Amino acid sequence: MGLLSQGSPLSWEETRRHAEHVRKHGILQFLHIYRALRDRHKDVLKWGDEVEYMLVKFDHENKKVRLVLCGEEVLQTLQDKGEKVNPNHPTLWRPEYGSYMIEGTPGQPYGGTMSEFNTVQDNMRKRRQEAASVLKENEAVCTVTSFPSLDLIVVLHRLGCPGFTVPEHKPTPVEGGASKSLFFPDEAINKHPRFSTLTRNIRHRRGEKVVINVPIFKDKNTPSPFIETFPNDDGEAAKAAKPDYIYMDAMGFGMGNCCLQVTFQACSISEARYLYDQLATICPIVMALSAASPFYRGYVSDIDCRWGVISASVDDRTREERGLEPLKNNHYRISKSRYDSIDSYLSECGEKYNDIDLTIDKDIYEHLIKEGIDHLLAQHIAHLFIRDPLTLFEEKIHLDDANESDHFENIQSTNWQTMRFKPPPPNSDIGWRVEFRPMEVQLTDFENSAYVVFVVLLTRVILSYKLDFLIPLSKVDENMKMAQKRDAVRQGMFYFRKDICKAGNAVVDGCGSAQNGTGTDTEEYTLMSIDTIINGKEGVFPGLIPILNSYLENMEVDVDTRCTILNYLKLIKKRASGELMTVARWMREFIAQHPDYKQDSVITDEMNYSLIWKCNQIAQGQAECPELLGVGFNKKQSGNKTGSL
Ligand code: GLU
Ligand code: MG
Repeated sequence: MGLLSQGSPLSWEETRRHAEHVRKHGILQFLHIYRALRDRHKDVLKWGDEVEYMLVKFDHENKKVRLVLCGEEVLQTLQDKGEKVNPNHPTLWRPEYGSYMIEGTPGQPYGGTMSEFNTVQDNMRKRRQEAASVLKENEAVCTVTSFPSLDLIVVLHRLGCPGFTVPEHKPTPVEGGASKSLFFPDEAINKHPRFSTLTRNIRHRRGEKVVINVPIFKDKNTPSPFIETFPNDDGEAAKAAKPDYIYMDAMGFGMGNCCLQVTFQACSISEARYLYDQLATICPIVMALSAASPFYRGYVSDIDCRWGVISASVDDRTREERGLEPLKNNHYRISKSRYDSIDSYLSECGEKYNDIDLTIDKDIYEHLIKEGIDHLLAQHIAHLFIRDPLTLFEEKIHLDDANESDHFENIQSTNWQTMRFKPPPPNSDIGWRVEFRPMEVQLTDFENSAYVVFVVLLTRVILSYKLDFLIPLSKVDENMKMAQKRDAVRQGMFYFRKDICKAGNAVVDGCGSAQNGTGTDTEEYTLMSIDTIINGKEGVFPGLIPILNSYLENMEVDVDTRCTILNYLKLIKKRASGELMTVARWMREFIAQHPDYKQDSVITDEMNYSLIWKCNQIAQGQAECPELLGVGFNKKQSGNKTGSL
């Protein structure tokens, strides 16, 4: 999760004093990179995935599962055994927000050949096995997006059992703490000072605790209205919690969730900008397809995706910036959290679809324009730079702008948007990259590989067929809202472009759009179901999977790789049509059918245990789950069995 510096973290008051300095030098650092590397052309597309994991411990006797706060030690061991002794080690491990989390990536990026799609799942399996091999008895690595019962109080009250973590910790709702949460103890935050400093400084900048309200799923016996009381509350929770919502008050409820990301290195800056735009429109669609987080703080919610929860969990805007008070001490009203969907397209083709009001730092914009940066890129950077730095280390204030980029990265890496446009780090051989960030992590390596390969293949067809998915960004935002709703895959309707083929137009370097002039033609897009978007519908839309299939038919692919890819696409196809369930839907049904469930939207400790145990068994290939994975086509899931034949 972004830049990790070592040193002495500054408080919010101290950091605020250096905000202008960080912004100014961040821009100078960006300009150095841009000037040196704007013409860099790489000939291959490289890419890599990131999977975030939770570490859990099963207590089979008492039928409980807890998060284990050993991420830092596990990470150390994994790095000591892996990348530190072997530069070609197949996996890389990084810290994540929760001290019960770790993040794994392949050791080297994947290249441009088709056969590499056949190695993704093996690599993910290696990561899972490697992480599992350094855990203790009854501990497991788990790829669930949100841990259903992240709540000490609820567990204590309902069941008299002490907390959701091992070791146990009480929350620390005191001003001196990081989160001041009624539920989420500071010990569950990664010990690297970046994470607790981010947490505290977000809260201090905002001027109050973060507020996350997720609608509760109203089941037959759910109290109506659903209203909670909070025993240790100093009044803040009572004010912030809304009837019929699950209330949460800490960054950990958001950033403590796991996701699946893909980063691509493009051939050039213009290809990166083109992919950034095209993929931005795909974000809500793939997020809905990957929906995997229906439960929060021990309750069944009415949403299927984590997005809005994380967004609220790191919302550092003041009341003035949120429009609740007249502007006095702040510069701007800001319409979104730092974690949210993108606000402007970056390619020339995208310009006419930039219909969201963009708040920018005008001085930065003018500075960039003066330095020869084009309008679209200048406004993108000037928009990211309306934010303050949230963490700063005393030892890292004065930097060499020509050879370091920490101040640029400071602002850039705390703008957690659906897509990220990533300039090359100074003095490296890395090119211009884009990161695709909306997906929720799936239970198995098979599913995670399928989603990753689907997205990477999509970039190939976008580039080869010069596809154009652009619609007004305000419509993409509406899609983002829709995508998080319960069962959006089957019930949601999404704005999507009707004619995506603009063959013959030089889309990457210029814009060969059919319509010239300003204003967008409402006829260009229409509402479609995810099934139509993914699988196509006669006379309406060709469908992304049929397009991928026809691309594959024209590619030279070995039989085994083709078979693997077809199985991945089959999963996506069937998830889109509703024939297979999303993880979110499957989890809902699992809880609904649990003998202890009282149709009151409450997930007890024991229900949580059975759910996570089942997830673990499915991930290990020890339990089948045809309603989620289909039958027969996830052959690689039990890879070790095949290997021993
Ligand atoms: N865990 C965060 C998410 O679910 C992402 C953190 C990161 O940027 O690595 O979106
Ligand atoms: Mg991460």
